Amino acid sequence: MMQSFNPATDTVLGEFPICDAGTIEHRLRTAAGSQQAWARLEVCQRTPYLLQVAAVLRRRKDELARTMTLEMGKPLAESLGEIEKCAWNFEYYAQQGETFLADQVVASAATDSRIVYDPLGLVLAVMPWNYPFWQVMRAAAPVLVGGNGMVLKHASNVPQCALALEQVFKEAGLPEGLFTTLLVESSAVRGLIEDDRIAAVTFTGSTPVGRSIAAQAGQALKKQVLELGGSDPFIVLADADIEAAAAVAVKARFSNTGQSCISSKRFIVEAAAADRFTEAFVAGARKLVVGDPLQAGTTIGAMARRKLRDELHAQVVASVREGARVLIGGQPQEGPGAFYPPTILDQVTPDMTAAREETFGPAAAILRVSSVDQAIAVANDSPFGLGAALWTRDLDRARQLTRRIDAGAVFVNGMVASDPRLPFGGTKQSGYGRELGHLGLHEFMNIKTVWTGPART
Ligand code: NAP
Repeated sequence: MMQSFNPATDTVLGEFPICDAGTIEHRLRTAAGSQQAWARLEVCQRTPYLLQVAAVLRRRKDELARTMTLEMGKPLAESLGEIEKCAWNFEYYAQQGETFLADQVVASAATDSRIVYDPLGLVLAVMPWNYPFWQVMRAAAPVLVGGNGMVLKHASNVPQCALALEQVFKEAGLPEGLFTTLLVESSAVRGLIEDDRIAAVTFTGSTPVGRSIAAQAGQALKKQVLELGGSDPFIVLADADIEAAAAVAVKARFSNTGQSCISSKRFIVEAAAADRFTEAFVAGARKLVVGDPLQAGTTIGAMARRKLRDELHAQVVASVREGARVLIGGQPQEGPGAFYPPTILDQVTPDMTAAREETFGPAAAILRVSSVDQAIAVANDSPFGLGAALWTRDLDRARQLTRRIDAGAVFVNGMVASDPRLPFGGTKQSGYGRELGHLGLHEFMNIKTVWTGPART
């Protein structure tokens, strides 16, 4: 059985049967059949279904958000925002699908030569719990509008979200099984990747697991997109609007209780602005409210599992042992629930645990640097390369600096966030491939050249 557990109260919410081999076989067969019929539809025949998905999400928003909060502890207001974003994503691909998938005529020696986009088939999605709806739905909308189907293996701690997602597609009237949830453990993933009915894999999660899934997909020669961990820098140069930077820094680090791949984790601040930034950042973090995630006004909920809180605390303790200074927080909250207070570490250096490892929870590391060049060097001194924020009033300099930062996205004077209109993904150990935008959509299409003669001389 797969357990649904409330990390804010330490209570079991329910247990759900794990799919046996017969169920997996039946469900894959159904999914494959539905996908073949779906692929034959014109894009304009698919898009109304996407709009229906958005409508169902909006109609059931309160209930779905509550399920999410109960299972993984994020504040309810954030869960509601997440459902809204999923609905927007489906509307966006409904609106843009035909444009993104239109044939592209390319002049050549042919009478007519063009690029056409055909679906690959069933895409296996192996997904994490931190945004239990968004991670899945940001991958699903482009995959489905392109004529593919999706088989979801969700994280084991969010089985109710996984089942609710399948239910949303059913209610929206999509062909049976076109979006299928399989409640399986991670040991079942290899078999799914090897199954002939799975054409490709999209994985969002940690770097070590991504490496293993990439190896399996590589062995099976199946296309893969990997969205992995991050330790995003938030660079504040001396000429930045410090108050604005500090206000955004609070959101960038502590939203989703700090459990986001694109949370800013390393705050790299030029010495001349460091005291002012630190003071404002700490003042903003002090205003956060830790507590019952269902309660209005709570801004920091429970972490998703006690083990994750213990791991975060161990990283904080190690960093302090290495010389970091705790400005606020730093001790897990006693009593039931996996609560950890907003924590800010100052005097962190690039060799310390909080700078080297991904900290997946509400703990920020401030690294003070003496120049712009050092800021960029420290930002790039990480195995990860997901997102980066850069704060400066000098936009000409910013434009040059963005090209020197090793990351899949650089946000100038703003907070890194995913957006259906813009490609999202990483470099280095943060993965490869892109989601979202037209480039994300094309990842799971067969980009086919069609050449029609006779050749012109
Ligand atoms: P995780 O442990 O890698 O798990 C992610 C998914 O992989 C879950 O469905 C998990 O299933 C499955 N899994 C675990 N071990 C596996 C194995 N050996 N073989 C096949 N599948 C396996 O990651 P997490 O702790 O849930 O999520 C946090 C990580 O995800 C962080 O590193 C974060 O930065 C990253 N993340 C990245 C992005 C991005 O877009 N780049 C977005 C969100 C999160 P079980 O639950 O059954 O183990």
